[in-house]
Amino acid sequence: MTSPDLSTDPTATQDDGGQAARRLLIVGPPGAGKGTQAVRIAEELSIPAISTGDIFRANVSQETELGVLAKSYMDAGEYVPDSVTNDMVRSRLAEADARDGFLLDGYPRTLDQVEALDSILTELGTALDLVLLLEVETDEVVGRLLARGAEQGRSDDTEETIRRRLDVYAEQTAPLIDVYDSRGLVRRVDGSAPIDEVTVALREALRAR
Ligand code: AMP
Repeated sequence: MTSPDLSTDPTATQDDGGQAARRLLIVGPPGAGKGTQAVRIAEELSIPAISTGDIFRANVSQETELGVLAKSYMDAGEYVPDSVTNDMVRSRLAEADARDGFLLDGYPRTLDQVEALDSILTELGTALDLVLLLEVETDEVVGRLLARGAEQGRSDDTEETIRRRLDVYAEQTAPLIDVYDSRGLVRRVDGSAPIDEVTVALREALRAR
């Protein structure tokens, strides 16, 4: 009796082969549209979109201990300390819904967080598949964030805080791209295109793995 040819197993899904990119980061400056795109892409892949900014904001509105701590940093446009953020992500990624994939939005943002994420994924017996980088010019993101501040009243979308967040991004987060580039994981997408076009480009970037 010959063994079945698993390479053509008609019941095999992408999950079975472990080939599809499902452990993902989306990176880019504040206002690049990461959150909007993350939700779309995650839904298409049936994986959770995990936004550290959203988790912090939920804690702020529930006035948890973590929220009280995070708010002071967020309102100043600074990063919440790595130790706090890393612990939060470690427990979130250990949840059952992240077992078969996740799209992290807004994490990691520092080199220390890159190292922490590496260890978290090693502990979970997995690794990153791809890093999606949304590229948008500074003038454009400032305009978008000011508009969002006016519409949604986010307390960190004021001009002064926006400038600080962009500086912090350039100093602390942009260097991460080189790290992931050296691992061959980065796929660049023009984030200044209309929203639907960006989604299409991200989908293509995932396929072109
Ligand atoms: P975001 O919604 O991703 O723009 O995040 C809003 C704010 O939450 C940031 O400006 C930081 O103060 C905080 N924050 C979100 N993610 C992180 C992170 N990975 N490390 C530190 N602070 C973060």
